[in-house]
Order: sequence, then structure tokens, then C-alpha cells
Amino acid sequence: MTDERQGRPSASSMGRVFQCPGSWRLCRQLPVADKDSGVAADDPDYLVFGNACHDYMDRPTDAKYQALGSEGQWMVDKFSDHFRGAINLIASGIPGAFEKGGIHKEIRLWNPDRTYSGQADIAVVDQALSLGAVFDYKSGRALVDNADQNYQLRVLAVLLASNHSLKTVFAGIIQPRSATPLTIVRYDEGDLQEAASELDELMLAIEDPNAPLIPGDHCVFCPAKAHCPALGGESVALVVDSGSVHPGSDGAMEAVSLQPEQLAAIMLMAKRGRAFLDAVEERVKSMLRADPGSVPGWELSPDTEVSSIGDAAKAYEVISDVLEPEAFARACKVTLSKLEDEFHAAHPDHTKSENKKALRALLGPAITKSTRSGSLKRKTDEIPALPPTPVAIETKSEEPLPDLR
Ligand code: SF4
Repeated sequence: MTDERQGRPSASSMGRVFQCPGSWRLCRQLPVADKDSGVAADDPDYLVFGNACHDYMDRPTDAKYQALGSEGQWMVDKFSDHFRGAINLIASGIPGAFEKGGIHKEIRLWNPDRTYSGQADIAVVDQALSLGAVFDYKSGRALVDNADQNYQLRVLAVLLASNHSLKTVFAGIIQPRSATPLTIVRYDEGDLQEAASELDELMLAIEDPNAPLIPGDHCVFCPAKAHCPALGGESVALVVDSGSVHPGSDGAMEAVSLQPEQLAAIMLMAKRGRAFLDAVEERVKSMLRADPGSVPGWELSPDTEVSSIGDAAKAYEVISDVLEPEAFARACKVTLSKLEDEFHAAHPDHTKSENKKALRALLGPAITKSTRSGSLKRKTDEIPALPPTPVAIETKSEEPLPDLR
């Protein structure tokens, strides 16, 4: 397969490269099989789902829409709604904006020196007003930074501006699963120049053979995490320090004896340490698959065949003579979210939230409620913003919008 990034940094990885300049060189030295590992490899089902949604948005056809299923159809409908919502929102502040705009889909843009590139999911260019807008669709469950914190968008804004000689570029993230499904940031001429200079400097910095490896939250999505001395060293240090600084009765760390600041620091490191250990586990598995004796003291258990029922309706059809419907229902697991998707697909004239309310009213006592304990969450207001911090516009568009796909 040809590498359309031509071995150069791309917008999608630039946030990580910005925070860890040495990661670009390290990733280039990876074995081919590891080069594309990262977030996608952690969630292969969603990679397929995301690709199908992106493919539809690029070149929509009825057949592709049907093949997406209710979840995918909901996703691409939301992509389109929020895209139109964004364009309308921008045009409401800049009269005449995009009335004659040209739409570009899935285009790879390069900077003038061809030292970095970025793939825009969709971009609109209004040459007469020297105005552009670029958007990135996110279909996954892992939520990404809003537009004003997002480095990928910063790169795409610079690239769109330089490719079309634009003075103002709006850049947005469309992530329908988020509580803020659409966030937009505005880059004016000065912001674009500053961001372009910063990227030029970064391109010089990454060529340095001694460019630093700097572990951080960005390691979670780094393809080099199984090979990285900095992350590995930090992970080992975490284990060693945890065991020696605060030994409990059995020599292990006693979390209760740690101060809140120490706990907060360990939580940060533990996230990257877990990413490193996951990568090590994957590496050990692939080595053992290739050579069962390659890792001392470890072996792979044999593959087991897993049976499941993919078509519940078909299963019921063949078993209904010998099993009561109630008994069959007890063996089925019905998830409310999937049922809501099906209900919404069957009643497309209503909004998703109207259908959700109606379905829950219908189901009434069939719904049982329980409490799930809260999970740990980083406080986003303590994450520093990228310089400069342009004005962010947020909207939750649920109104029907003209379909201009
Ligand atoms: S694992 Fe982390 S520290 Fe190592 S290269 Fe990747 S981003 Fe940098």
C-alpha cells in the first residue's frame, strides 16, 4: 500500500508530535506491522464502522446508506446536520459567506515545502471572501478535544489557508456522540501566520536526532509505545517507586498512605503506563504467534472457537416450536441504546430525543434502573489551551437543516 503521507507528519498525529518531537523519528523506525497501530488498533470494530461512515460522506449512495445500518445512518445524518449547522452559523456572522463556496471532500493538503500534510474530511472555500471552513468527522466513542484545543484542526486550518490563499479559516470538530457535537474555532490571518511559523519550527525540531521523547497522555495513541525508551523507563520507574517509597506490610504500595498530589501524579502516569503495558502484551502475543518459544516463561493458550447467534429473529423462527417465547426472551439480552436506534430508524419523522422519550414511555415498567458508580475523569479546565486561544463557538444543532450532501 502506498503511503500518501509520504513518510512525513500528518495533521492527525501532529498533536502528539508537537508534545513529543522525538516521536516522529521513533515511529519511522518501527517495524512495518507496528506503524499503523495506535487508536485504530485498539478498536478495530470502530475503525471499520468509522471508515464506512467516512466513505459514505465522501461519496454517498443509497446502497452504502442501507449497508450502514441504523447506527451508521444516525451517524452520517448527524454529520450532515452538524456540517450544515456549522455553515449556517458561520454565514449568520459573515453575510454572503459560502454562497458561492466550493466543497472539497477527503482531500489531502500539503504545505508549500511538502514537509507535512493533512487530510480534510470536508472543506469549503469561498475564494471571493478569502474565507474557508474545514471539518473533521469523529465517529468513535473516544471523544477528542474540542476545536479550540485541537491540534489536528490547527494544522488543517493552516493547510487550507496556504493552499487557497485564505485570510480567515473556521475549523470544526463534528463528533455526534459528544455532549458538544459541534465545536468551531476561528483562525484569522495573524493566528494562521503564527500557527504556520510554529509548524515550520516543529518540522525543523523533529529532524534533530536528539529530539526529546516526552511521555504524556498523547502516548496512549502513539504507535511507538511498545518500543519507546522514555515511556518504558517511566513505566518501570512508576512500578519501582510505587513499591519502594511507600511499602505496605507485604512490600507493595499502600495507596491509603499517599498524599492527594502523589495520587494525582500517579493517576496521570498510570494511564500512559497502562498504554505501554498493553502494547507490550500485544508485542508478546505477536512474537509467540510467530515463534512459540520466543518469550521465556510465556506461551499462548490455543485459540478457541466461539459460537454466537447473529440473527435472533432467525433463531426464534427455528426454535419457537420447542421453546416458549418467554423462555426465549429470557435468553436474549436487549440493550436500551440498540432498541432506541431501531425505534428511531423505524420512526424517522421524529427527532432522536423525541423517539427516545416515546420509547421509554412505551416500555415503562419493562425498564429497570440501577446506579453505576462514577468513573475517574480528568478536569478539562486544568488542561492548558493551545496558543493562541481563538474564539470558540459551540452549538448543539438539532433543527432540521437543508440536505446539501
Ligand atoms: S510513546 Fe510517548 S514518549 Fe514515546 S515516542 Fe510515543 S509519544 Fe513519545
